[in-house]
Amino acid sequence: MRFMDEVLYADVVVVGAGILGLAHAHEARKRGLSVVVVDKDERCLGASIRNFGFVTVSGLRGGDIWRRAVASRDEWLNVAPQAGIPIQHRGTWLVVWHPLAWEVAKAFALSDMGEDVELVPAEQLATRAPEVNAEGAIGALYSPHEVRVESFTAIPALAHWLETLGVRFIWGEEVLGTDGGTVWTNRHRVEAERSVLCPGTLLTGIGSEALEPYDITLSKLQMLRVLPRKPIMFNAAVMNELSLARYQGYADLPEATAWGEYLDENESELRAAGIHLIAVQSADGSIVIGDSHEYGKDPDPFAKEAVDRMIIAQLQRSTTVGDVDVLSRWVGVYPTADIDCVIAAPSPDQRVVVVTSGKGASTGFGIARDVFDTWDQGSDG
Ligand SMILES: Cc1cc2nc3c(=O)[nH]c(=O)nc-3n(C[C@H](O)[C@H](O)[C@H](O)COP(=O)(O)OP(=O)(O)OC[C@H]3O[C@@H](n4cnc5c(N)ncnc54)[C@H](O)[C@@H]3O)c2cc1C
Repeated sequence: MRFMDEVLYADVVVVGAGILGLAHAHEARKRGLSVVVVDKDERCLGASIRNFGFVTVSGLRGGDIWRRAVASRDEWLNVAPQAGIPIQHRGTWLVVWHPLAWEVAKAFALSDMGEDVELVPAEQLATRAPEVNAEGAIGALYSPHEVRVESFTAIPALAHWLETLGVRFIWGEEVLGTDGGTVWTNRHRVEAERSVLCPGTLLTGIGSEALEPYDITLSKLQMLRVLPRKPIMFNAAVMNELSLARYQGYADLPEATAWGEYLDENESELRAAGIHLIAVQSADGSIVIGDSHEYGKDPDPFAKEAVDRMIIAQLQRSTTVGDVDVLSRWVGVYPTADIDCVIAAPSPDQRVVVVTSGKGASTGFGIARDVFDTWDQGSDG
C-alpha cells in the first residue's frame, strides 16, 4: 500500500469540482467554514464545462427546482462580477409556429410561473429580436429570467475565485473511500467535520450505496459550436416550440398534451432523438447549440451525424443565422431520475448530492443553500 503523504483538516470536505461541488464549497465559505475540495481530474472536465452555461428559470417545473433556479440565477449574478465571469446575455426567446404550441405558450404566460413573461407577436420580432426568424411564426414567448455564462471558462474562474477566498483544492486525486466527514485519496487524507460528495455521473464509486434507491440512469447529449458566416448578435438565448413538449414547466400544462401527441405523430425522428433547440452566443460570436437525449446506464461515446444535422436545422429554422461552419462537436452526459435532485444522508456528517434533472448550472447554488440550511438545522436532508 502506498504511503499517504499528508493529512489535512477542514470543517467541510467537498468531493467533485463541478458546479455542484463548487456551489457547496461557496456556500460553506459563506457560512465561515474552512473547505477542502478534491477532484480526480487536473481541472473540471465533466458536465459542468460541457453544458450551455444556460441558467434557466422559465420552463422548469414549479416547486423546489423553480425556487432553487431563481436563487441560483441570483447567486450567479452576485458571484459573476466578483469572480470575473462575464454574463454573455440574458433572457430567452422561444419561437412558435404551430397553433397547438401557441396554446401552450399562452397557458404558460397566464400561469403562476408566467410572471414577467411576454407573448410577442411575430410582426414585432424583427425589431425586438432580429436574431429570431419570424417567417411563418405566430410569435415568441419571451422570458427575461435567464442568464448565460461561458461554462468552460466560468467554472475554472469560479474555482480560482474560491481559492482566493481560502478554499483549498486538491486536483488530480481520486477519492477512494470515505467515512463520515473523512475522505482519502492515495496521497491525502482529509479529516473534516462534514463531507459533501458531488460525483456527477460517476455513480458506481463513493456514495453509490446511498444513491441505489433512486434508480439513476444517464442521458447522453450532443452539442456543437458553430460560427455563422455572416455576423449576427443574439440579445438572448433562442429556443423553439419543441421545448414546449419537453421542459416540464411547459409540458406538464394540460394544453401540452395535444402538442406532444402532434409531435409524436409528425416529428417522430426529432422526438426519438430527444431533440429540442437551445442556442446561446459566446463573446467571439460563435453559437453553442444542442441538444439531443439518449438514455441508458452505459451510453456509447459516439456522436451521430444525423442528430447533429437535425440540431443545425432547428437553429436555421428558428434564427436568422443562415449558413454556419461547425467549429467543434462534443457529447456530454448527465444523471437522470424521477426526481430533480438527490440529496442523500448516509450518515449525520455526510451528504451525497446529485442533480438528476440536467439542470445543475441552473440550480446548483440553490441546492447547496438548501443542503446546508437543513443540515445546520439538524435535519437528515
Ligand atoms: C451537454 C450538456 C448540456 C447541459 N446544459 C445545461 C444547461 O445549459 N443548464 C443547466 O442548468 N444544466 C445543464 N446541463 C446539466 C449540468 O451541466 C449538470 O447538471 C451539472 O454540470 C452537474 O454538475 P456536477 O458538479 O454534479 O457534475 P460534474 O460537472 O460532472 O462534476 C463532477 C466532478 O466530480 C469529480 N469526481 C467524481 N468522482 C470523484 C472521486 N471519487 N474523486 C474525486 N473527484 C471525483 C469528477 O471528476 C467531476 O469533476 C447540461 C449537461 C450536459 C451534459
